[in-house]
Amino acid sequence: MRGAVMYAPGDVRVEDRPDPRIEQPTDAIIRLTATCVCGSDLWPYRGVEKLEGPTPMGHEYVGIVEEVGNEVTALKPGQFVVGSFWASDNTCANCRNGYQSGCIHRVLMGTIGTQSEYARIPLADGTLVATPEVPSAELIPSYLAASDVLGTGWFGVVAAEAGPGKTVAVVGDGAVGLLAILAAKQLGAERIIAFSRHADRQKLATEFGATDIVTERGDEGVARIKDLTDGLGAHSVVEAVGTQESMLQAMHSTRPGGNVGFVGVAHDVNLPGMDLFMSLVRLHGGPAPVRRFLPDLLDLIGNRTIDPGKVFDLDLPLEQAAEGYKAMDERRAIKTLLRP
Ligand SMILES: [Zn+2]
Repeated sequence: MRGAVMYAPGDVRVEDRPDPRIEQPTDAIIRLTATCVCGSDLWPYRGVEKLEGPTPMGHEYVGIVEEVGNEVTALKPGQFVVGSFWASDNTCANCRNGYQSGCIHRVLMGTIGTQSEYARIPLADGTLVATPEVPSAELIPSYLAASDVLGTGWFGVVAAEAGPGKTVAVVGDGAVGLLAILAAKQLGAERIIAFSRHADRQKLATEFGATDIVTERGDEGVARIKDLTDGLGAHSVVEAVGTQESMLQAMHSTRPGGNVGFVGVAHDVNLPGMDLFMSLVRLHGGPAPVRRFLPDLLDLIGNRTIDPGKVFDLDLPLEQAAEGYKAMDERRAIKTLLRP
């Protein structure tokens, strides 16, 4: 099969990779309908994360079940399925508690690499959720968004305890931040403040439900949030970047007693103890348990209540994955969809 492999920062190639096979009786093999490039794929692309040699890329996926292992009972070939970037059994204590990204048997799909024609999905019964029928083509981007960026943004909003009557602020205007805005709107937030300084992203933020846009960052950004909230700060702040500056911006934008939901993969974040101590805020986050939300998200997409697929503003054949990475790296694209 064909698949994307990163050789070095800035060097992504599509080449022949071994066809996946059933390795465990709980595995399934899917034929990908669509996959995509994640903001987190840009960390190694930019040389911020080190690569251990050529690395198959990708952890977001939707597709058709081709084959199942003999212990898979909930799925059959021909079904259209969506799964998260963590494979999880969905039966252990952590999964039953809603933290499938902390599953005791979890497998990180990035170690498999789903920017490819086919993929092996471990723990298929627990990981994959099938739609009632194979969806029409225009819904594919939205289902693909559910695999990571929508589910991650949604978790950020839930972790920040957003809801009716709340003011929510979102730090980060990548796909996750933008879809956190959509989630905050769906969950009934009264006011949604987006930090963004890019016109195309501001427009999408507004379409998804942002009521205010703040272009300032850091302490100036925090001051703007205070201005907009009677000096108090937001009730709920979603952090969707993963840097020291963005974490502190999120913490300092939150009012006492409020909540930060942090879902940006942390890079060199070191929270000063005294800042944390004085903030009086709750912090909850980490790798999103997307599987918890998938059944509801797939319903909302299937009945066309939400259209998260709008975050894909570049749609390329898998063979052009290198251009897909480059466009995101240069901020010419918010998110690249790849079609095997
Ligand atoms: Zn589990």
